[in-house]
Amino acid sequence: MTTVTAPAIAPFRLFGLTVLRTERLSPSMQRVTFGGPGLDGFAAGGRDQSLSLFLPHPGQAEPVVPVAEDGTWFDAWRAAPEDVRAVMRAYTVRAQRRADDGATEVDIDFALHDDGGPACRWAEAAAPGQRLKGLGPAVEDNASVRFRPPQDTAWVLIQADETALPAASAALEWLPAGSRAEVWLEVPHAGDRLELRTEADVTVHWLVRDQGAPSAVEAVRAAELPGGTPYAWIAGEASGVRELRRHLVQERKFDRRRVTFVGYWRRGLSEEQLREEAARTSA
Ligand SMILES: Cc1cc2nc3c(=O)[nH]c(=O)nc-3n(C[C@H](O)[C@H](O)[C@H](O)COP(=O)(O)OP(=O)(O)OC[C@H]3O[C@@H](n4cnc5c(N)ncnc54)[C@H](O)[C@@H]3O)c2cc1C
Repeated sequence: MTTVTAPAIAPFRLFGLTVLRTERLSPSMQRVTFGGPGLDGFAAGGRDQSLSLFLPHPGQAEPVVPVAEDGTWFDAWRAAPEDVRAVMRAYTVRAQRRADDGATEVDIDFALHDDGGPACRWAEAAAPGQRLKGLGPAVEDNASVRFRPPQDTAWVLIQADETALPAASAALEWLPAGSRAEVWLEVPHAGDRLELRTEADVTVHWLVRDQGAPSAVEAVRAAELPGGTPYAWIAGEASGVRELRRHLVQERKFDRRRVTFVGYWRRGLSEEQLREEAARTSA
């Protein structure tokens, strides 16, 4: 007997993203909504689905991402001069939806920060018609969705700063009715406390920095946590993420396999510098 299987779809590929509109959601958050035919086949898995954005340098009409004859891009991109090749940054797909005409739209929420790197500066000035590229998901079940509470989870702990607020918000939307979550969200200003939608039973603790809020680890350390088997998801500035993970695993005795933690940025280092450091330590 001959069995015919559908050809496997590569989980990630390059997409073209055209800015449709922008919206200032809060003092520190700029939403950019992308669309265009380049997004055909984009398939976000929700929750903390991330993608790599490629941004142009000032003066370039679009980002330069050379693709080799065999269809691969990474070596060709890396071989191009740094001031020519596109700037690569990790972001979260806050939402994907079908517009009235059936076309795909994708929202990405950019936290604006005083250190103003290229992504932050680009987002602040973004305008309809501008084009980016993104290495994004072509299948919904992909490895860039990391928020995965195991089946036997009794309650979920979520901690995020403003860069991980889009991911935490999407994760809360995904949690079903009947599930329970304790959530600590750290933002610069009171006006950055964006509305959250969820069917789960959720307690949200906002930590507003310019109101002198304690750090996330101090706040969680002082909290009485629910009983039952937890799952934790922590993302944001790398040193805070590490500190909270250590508290949960060493002091609260969470099973380390049930703690997902991702450093989204590191104070004082750009994403290029972080990549260089990671390459040096793995060499
Ligand atoms: C999986 C993943 C998903 C992410 N999703 C999002 C998202 O949806 N929205 C979002 O806004 N960010 C997100 N980030 C974080 C974002 O990639 C970084 O903040 C990135 O450094 C921003 O690039 P930049 O060009 O603005 O700054 P860079 O050029 O990378 O850095 C320049 C300087 O700014 C500092 N810096 C970077 N970010 C901040 C910040 N938020 N506050 C203060 N200083 C900062 C750096 O330490 C450095 O000193 C995500 C990161 C990861 C790994």
